[in-house]
Amino acid sequence: MVNEVSSGLTHPPTRETSVRRVVCPGSFDPVTNGHIDIIERASRLFDAVVVAVLINKSKRGLFPIEERLEMLREVTEVYGNVTIEAFHGLLVDFCRERDIPAMVKGLRAVSDFDYELQMAQMNHRLAGVETLFVATNPLYSFLSSSLVKEVATYGGDVSGLVPPPVLDRLAKRLAEQ
Ligand code: ADP
Repeated sequence: MVNEVSSGLTHPPTRETSVRRVVCPGSFDPVTNGHIDIIERASRLFDAVVVAVLINKSKRGLFPIEERLEMLREVTEVYGNVTIEAFHGLLVDFCRERDIPAMVKGLRAVSDFDYELQMAQMNHRLAGVETLFVATNPLYSFLSSSLVKEVATYGGDVSGLVPPPVLDRLAKRLAEQ
């Protein structure tokens, strides 16, 4: 049994529950096939997956939050155990309020690692929330929402990198800009 002092925790971990729940956090502006791969794998490992979409008031994304949520709902419906919610503030507070002990994150490359490690350690320190890293499917290791937006802005083909409902909305959204 690790005590609070030796583990460095300032708050005790959340209690054990019979339902194994996990959070997949991110901006999802918009959701890509790389995100879906991680969400799908989490949905096979856990009873329930909550996709938490960060509301960042200081950064206007391409898609409004409501539309990001809608796209995520549409493309994750098939899994049956995935729900979508928006959040602002600290992710650990979101986890604590829902009694969710862990989050799953995708690691694409070594460049993701430094920052992700810091965040994981901070989140553990703040609230005892664990971070589980899933190695990206090599098919998607170069893929990010920002790169998809950049390529699509200049007319590049991003089919196969985002799900079809996102492809349609991306075309519409960029045409409006
Ligand atoms: P992005 O970097 O694409 O803007 P987010 O900030 O929405 O993505 O990231 C949410 C989570 O999804 C993070 O854990 C991130 O590492 C993961 N992720 C993003 N793109 C991929 C990908 N291509 N493969 C695996 N995981 C990914």
